[in-house]
Amino acid sequence: MAFVKTTDKMTAVHAFVNTWLKDPTLYCNNCGQDYMSCCNTPRPVLKKQAIHSEERNEEQIVLRCENCKKLVYQCCENPQIGNNKDHTYALIKQNKELKKESANEFASNETNTMRYGISIPPRLFRDLGEYFKKMYDQKLFGDKEDMRKFMKAFPAFSIPERI
Ligand SMILES: [Zn+2]
Ligand SMILES: [Zn+2]
Repeated sequence: MAFVKTTDKMTAVHAFVNTWLKDPTLYCNNCGQDYMSCCNTPRPVLKKQAIHSEERNEEQIVLRCENCKKLVYQCCENPQIGNNKDHTYALIKQNKELKKESANEFASNETNTMRYGISIPPRLFRDLGEYFKKMYDQKLFGDKEDMRKFMKAFPAFSIPERI
């Protein structure tokens, strides 16, 4: 079994993340299902659609591609379709907001009820975990030191959280 030092581990994580971000596969970030491509540049958006018939007049939410205008399969209640890059950037933006919001709380935190935690896209967490298992027969976060190193290497994936 190959033993990987934590510093090398983060280099491996960096390399993996860079390649992973380039994967163009579209999928739902909410339920994890892959998106069946409707056209070359799908832009599926949730839309309200009015249905009028003799029996009823109602609105329903449908998922429609802004590019090809096709109605597409709705995988779950709250579809968020995008590729790895889309989902990761959205999460990083969210993490940034969280940090901004709790900046004051964190600074005046004398009772130590706040700490930093890891907020990473679910699929990246899964894929990274599988990669480490396969390559090194190791857990991605073997111990607290790994987590600290990870947060240092990827500050965009760390968020303040309440203990
Ligand atoms: Zn879904
Ligand atoms: Zn389309």
